[in-house]
Amino acid sequence: MPRSESVKRLQDFADAASDYFWEMDENLRYSYISDRVEEITGIPPEWFIGKTRQEAGPDSGSESVAWQQNIDLISRHLPFRNFEHTRTRKDGCTVHISVSGTPFYDDNGVFKGYRGACTEITELKNREAELSEKTALLQTILDTVPALVSVLDNDRRIVFANKRAVEHYQIPLEDIIGKTIKELLGDKYTTVIDSFFDELKATNRTISVPTFKSHIYPERTLWSLGSPIIGDDGTTKLGILRITMDTTDLQNAEEQLRQAQKMEVIGQLTGGVAHDFNNLLSIIIGNLDFVSEMLPAENPAQPIVEAARAAALSGAELNRQLLAYSRQQSLSPDATNLNDTVSQMRDMLCRTLGETNEIEVTLADRLWMADADRAQVESALLNLAVNARDAMPEGGRLAITTVNTSLDQDYAMQHAEVIPGDYVALIVQDTGTGMTPEEQARAFEPFFTTKEQGKGTGLGLSMVYGFAKQSGGHVTIESAPDKGTTVSLYLPRNRRARTSVRKKIPEPPRSGGEKVLIVEDDPSLRVLYVSMAKDLGYAVLEAEDGHAALAHLSADSEIDLLLTDVTLPKGMSGPDIAAEAMVRIPGIRVLYMSGYSRAPGTENATLGETAMLLAKPFRKKALADKLREVLRSTD
Ligand code: ADP
Ligand code: MG
Repeated sequence: MPRSESVKRLQDFADAASDYFWEMDENLRYSYISDRVEEITGIPPEWFIGKTRQEAGPDSGSESVAWQQNIDLISRHLPFRNFEHTRTRKDGCTVHISVSGTPFYDDNGVFKGYRGACTEITELKNREAELSEKTALLQTILDTVPALVSVLDNDRRIVFANKRAVEHYQIPLEDIIGKTIKELLGDKYTTVIDSFFDELKATNRTISVPTFKSHIYPERTLWSLGSPIIGDDGTTKLGILRITMDTTDLQNAEEQLRQAQKMEVIGQLTGGVAHDFNNLLSIIIGNLDFVSEMLPAENPAQPIVEAARAAALSGAELNRQLLAYSRQQSLSPDATNLNDTVSQMRDMLCRTLGETNEIEVTLADRLWMADADRAQVESALLNLAVNARDAMPEGGRLAITTVNTSLDQDYAMQHAEVIPGDYVALIVQDTGTGMTPEEQARAFEPFFTTKEQGKGTGLGLSMVYGFAKQSGGHVTIESAPDKGTTVSLYLPRNRRARTSVRKKIPEPPRSGGEKVLIVEDDPSLRVLYVSMAKDLGYAVLEAEDGHAALAHLSADSEIDLLLTDVTLPKGMSGPDIAAEAMVRIPGIRVLYMSGYSRAPGTENATLGETAMLLAKPFRKKALADKLREVLRSTD
């Protein structure tokens, strides 16, 4: 072929190619560059001519290591291939270019320069970037899902494992990839796993294995799912996708919820019984008080009445614990300093525990105030100490600790009834016999006791539990046979007040001749309260419901105080009557009675912040004190 023909042929190739071509002379200056350069980079070919590679470098990135290496290769007359760089066109677009070049020589082997070609690879690069972005996104998703995700090939070798899977096997990723499950698990490998894979091989469906024990962590429960990965042709199996979840925490939470629901139902039952029982006890105790007052002090029936009254009072105490459990006792939550409570009870606890037991008290510095009924905290602590004593018949050590603590979202997720926030914890720990898991599961149930008849009522811990929940707190038991027991009572932090405001000491209890309207639907109780108030020197009016009460309030503007039950029949509650009373007789005082106060924030909220409440059953002295307190108070 004549030379001119072969030159033309090369020219045709160059014209047809989407690449552009260039040449450098022996001084490493551009001597030729094909026209297409302008199409691709926006720079006219003339611009390059006479420039060195350095001078013709891209505006940005010309200092880069890669560019410098390329220049170095050129200065040493070495060939280079697919050297990638970018140029920014005038329109702001970035063009990716791949350049290859090779030195050329004359017939005598003297270096004459370089010739090379440039290919635009912008689209390829963009697709590559998109792909790696997608891959990173997928990787993040796979590493974040709360499951072990792995992909196995047809030889059951792992070809992919997400972060959780790597953590689960506790083997570096590079050692997992390429291994079979059998190799990973070693001795722990079972034929069950084989049959799972065999089944997957035979089917096109997803197969799940509900709840099985982890081979690596026998105490964890897992749930697993396998799915064959099918190729684009719809038949070829490329491998297996395996997703495994640890459901242990979920199951624990479910179990806790079930337990909480059971306690709730028992609570409602006992609460109902205790409420009715309260009214009966009020009548018994009140009437016994009257009998005792009516009889001369030396009457031989006095000790009998006294014994009956003592028994009824213990009944009331039991009842109080039942109400505490069912969270229906009336609480007076206030800013309570648990450090003070513990310190003040210390001597009493020492006596309770006896000489064989040691008490160790650790009080936190700057302990927050707890929002709780102080008397109930005392009774809870006493209950816990008594339990500890009973669990340490041979003697031991009781540690009482107070501490500020924050229960976080994670903790709340694990404990169904906990609201995340700040709590003050009272931790009571003993070195006693401990409890079996079964005992521990039932310990809060009312009447659950392992103590012999007459020794245990099974109401101690249920009181603590009910009190904690009614106060918006939380209680936990940690125990194991012969390992002792730790009960932690968490009470919500009080943020309103720094110190507790002491209630005024009541005046002597006689009446100053005031007039009282008593509203009570239970006739026996009404009779009892009316006689109590009359006895104390009050002028008394009585009503069995709201309508009768309103009639009195309209007719008699001299009434000083309304003493009313909170829950009443016929559509008018105590607070309803109080509201009407205050319209009719401005300045009238109100005292509520209730044996059935719900959690603070429900019924108490409707009574109003300043409402005074007398918890049923009450005795004449308590009524006398409370009446004086209410009548003396100035708003
Ligand atoms: P009681 O003390 O009347 O039995 P509680 O409600 O206080 O009722 O306790 C219920 C049961 O929980 C006890 O009978 C005992 O089996 C177990 N228990 C409670 N506290 C402890 C403790 N500190 N150590 C071991 N067992 C305990
Ligand atoms: Mg007890």
